Amino acid sequence: MRKNPVLITMFIILILMPILMLFSCTSRISEDLGSERVSVLDNSSYEGLLSVHFLGLHTLGTKNGDASLVITPGGKTLLIDAGNESNHAKLRTYLENAGIETLDYVIFSHFHGDHVGDFQKLAADFSIGKVLMLDFPEIQGGSANERAGILEVLYKKAIPYAYLGAGDVLQLDDEIELFCLSPDLPVKYDETVVDDRTRTVFENQYSMVFQLKYREQVFLFTGDIYRDMEYDLVSRYGSQLRSDVLKVPHHGLHTSSSISFLLEVQPSLSIIMSGEPTESTLTSLRNRNRTLTTVAYGTIMVMSDGTTLQVITEHEDTTRGIYSE
Ligand SMILES: [Zn+2]
Repeated sequence: MRKNPVLITMFIILILMPILMLFSCTSRISEDLGSERVSVLDNSSYEGLLSVHFLGLHTLGTKNGDASLVITPGGKTLLIDAGNESNHAKLRTYLENAGIETLDYVIFSHFHGDHVGDFQKLAADFSIGKVLMLDFPEIQGGSANERAGILEVLYKKAIPYAYLGAGDVLQLDDEIELFCLSPDLPVKYDETVVDDRTRTVFENQYSMVFQLKYREQVFLFTGDIYRDMEYDLVSRYGSQLRSDVLKVPHHGLHTSSSISFLLEVQPSLSIIMSGEPTESTLTSLRNRNRTLTTVAYGTIMVMSDGTTLQVITEHEDTTRGIYSE
């Protein structure tokens, strides 16, 4: 008996439809592999992928700085911020374990100690291809000292550097591009800066904000910007802010993560680096997407093949649920 091709086609469609629907409904975060199965230190787990390692450098109860390591599918390395000086041993060990001798790029989001503090020691231990940073004016005070210290290292070691500002695009590797969204350069202090506190706020606001793009996936890095800058970004860029992974601004504190910003970014995954986030900010983020903190899970590694994300955490929650999922 001859089989009816229409019936066969319908049968195949009926079988395939639920499977296709299942795939289209699943989150783009494919799975959490968990620390028992794959370690963040297992280099083979991210070979050929883009991996972004949001480093948990703190010991519990202490504040630590921001530092994220990016390894491209082609093996190029980028360090985004360089943590606190007190975190040096952990940062160095992590980089050594990842087999890194040269950091092709180091980017500073801004010149505060919790983002650049370890650079001098780091530059002594690793060779550095190029530093990318903001063009900030000379001014007396805390961050000026940090900035001067960095420039001294750059001159001493003849490390090339460049300023990166809104509109700049950097090709890091095949298919990996960095798009700088803010601030416009050169940055100039305005009339709101009258003392140490207002200068700190200003410098946080003018953190470097950029997207890292790999095929269909986007990571958004925001330094320590506050709500006013978030509103500015929303009005300037609108839906261009859409990103799969958000490095939550300013350590998850209440100064930042406005609803309008989160609505525009629409991340699938938010990562809070260091510190102790404000509870209401954490709740607001968790109501919208999966949110992980380095204070609870240590280093959080996010891998991308350009369409799907995988997440590995260094360990289980160590904050007895306070900052865990
Ligand atoms: Zn900070």
